[in-house]
Formats: sequence, structure tokens, C-alpha cells
Amino acid sequence: MPEYIFGDINGVFEGDNFPDRIALREAKIHLVTVAGIDGNRNVGASSIVLNGGYKDDFDIGDEIIYTGHGGNDTNSKRQIADQSWEAIGNKALLVSEIHGLPIRVTRGAKHKSKHSPQTGYQYGGLYTIVDHFQEIGQDGFLICRYRLKKNSTNLHEDENPSSLLTNAKETKRSYVTILRIIRDTRISREIKDLYNYTCQVCGIMISLRDIKYAEAAHIKPLGQPHGGQDTKDNVICLCPNHHVMFDKGMFTIDSKLNLIGIDGYSKLSSKHQIDLSNLKYHREHVYIND
Ligand SMILES: [Zn+2]
Repeated sequence: MPEYIFGDINGVFEGDNFPDRIALREAKIHLVTVAGIDGNRNVGASSIVLNGGYKDDFDIGDEIIYTGHGGNDTNSKRQIADQSWEAIGNKALLVSEIHGLPIRVTRGAKHKSKHSPQTGYQYGGLYTIVDHFQEIGQDGFLICRYRLKKNSTNLHEDENPSSLLTNAKETKRSYVTILRIIRDTRISREIKDLYNYTCQVCGIMISLRDIKYAEAAHIKPLGQPHGGQDTKDNVICLCPNHHVMFDKGMFTIDSKLNLIGIDGYSKLSSKHQIDLSNLKYHREHVYIND
């Protein structure tokens, strides 16, 4: 089984061109040479290629509405059956959406968009899947669709830096109006797996069919001036409600794992060592105790 890399590939920049799918595979951008979606139902999808396979695809650069796979007659490109969320690639895209995983986007010359290259394939950067929906496509069958928003710009150094700034700003602004995207890191995934995606405060586990959802909450916040780390001793597994309440200081946790501000105590796996100084920091700097 291939090892999936999520995110940018070292040495590959947005706008880089590749003559064919073999070259894309060799560059580790997209490991499969025929399918448009690279990934599986366990890890999620790491990459998609748009190359005119589905006429319902929509692409304005920073936003793409991508059609899942299945039910397509490869010769006529017409939809001849409904698509299903359970098809491997479609499920992989749902997993990526739920875990906030970055997805590489590559456009081929056959993809009808002004962002497509004249020939071959062009790497278009990292996107995040922000929502999904099902609807009747142009050929009259159900299609699975995903809205992708561009994450950031990763251009060669000789590209215009001002365009980079503008793009970054726009992307940031659009996220604010869409939803709260919680991105998985390796550490957050490990902690969520350890608790089987069950909230350490209320014990609730949310799932979309069989895709489990929980959030990794940093006890000592990341970034300045807090300086919290993305390490297992600074992360707990919470449901979205308790994550927001914890981040906003509506409750905190003492050194014996009793909850302060709300009733109860925090469950802790014997395999999970929390740094008590991080809890102390949360009590002293984040918790609103008046
Ligand atoms: Zn909870």
C-alpha cells in the first residue's frame, strides 16, 4: 500500500508542469495513473486531478466544485448511473473533509478552465474540502460533489510576491465566512485514535456514517505569546462543543483532572501523559474564573 503524503511535496511548486500522469506519479503528486482521486477510505484523499472526466466540474481558481467518481461512461463521458458516497474515492474525499486534510489539486489540459495548462498537467496547489452535497448532474443522474477552497499559495520565489499576499489574505477571509476548519496533524490524529474519537469530557463520539469526528484541543494554546506545542502532552480529545468551551475558558481542568467551571472530571487514557504545567497554564491564563 502506498504511503500517502498530505500537503505540499518538497521541491514542487504551484504552476509546475508535468507532461503526463507518469511524471505526476514520479513527482509523488498523484500516485495513481488513471483515477482522478488518490487515497482511500482509511486515510482520506491526498490529491485530485481534474482532466475533463466530468462535465459538471466547476473551477474558478480559488474555488472548485469537484464531481466524485462513478457512474460515468468512459467513452462518451456521460453519466449513466448514480454516484455513491461509498465509492472509494468519494469516501476518501469525505474523510479528508471531516479531518480538514489538505488536498493537492492538479489540472490537465482537457479540463475546461482558464486555469488549465495548454498541454499535459499543472500542479495547482493545496485546497481544503469545505463541504459536500449530492445533486442531479447534467446527464440526469445523482452526482457527489465537493467544494474545495484554496489554502495558500506556494509559488516559486521569482513569482510576484504581491499576488501571493493578496491570495493569502483572500483565502483567510473566505474561511471566516464558511466554517471552522480543524486541521489534523499527526499528533492530533494519534490522540483522537487513542480515545476512539470520544470526548474526554462528555464521552460523546460523533460520526458521519462510519467516519468518526473529534477535535484535538491544545491545552496551552499554540502561537505567541503562549508558546504551546503540538505535542501529545499538550493535546486532549474533545467534542466540538467542549473544544470551544475549553478554548474560550468556560471550563478548565485541575491537576487531579477534575473539571472546574462545569461538573465532572476528564477521562484520561493510561497511555496518555499530560504535562500538568500545561493544565496550570490553561487555568491561569485561559480560564475565566469570575
Ligand atoms: Zn464533549
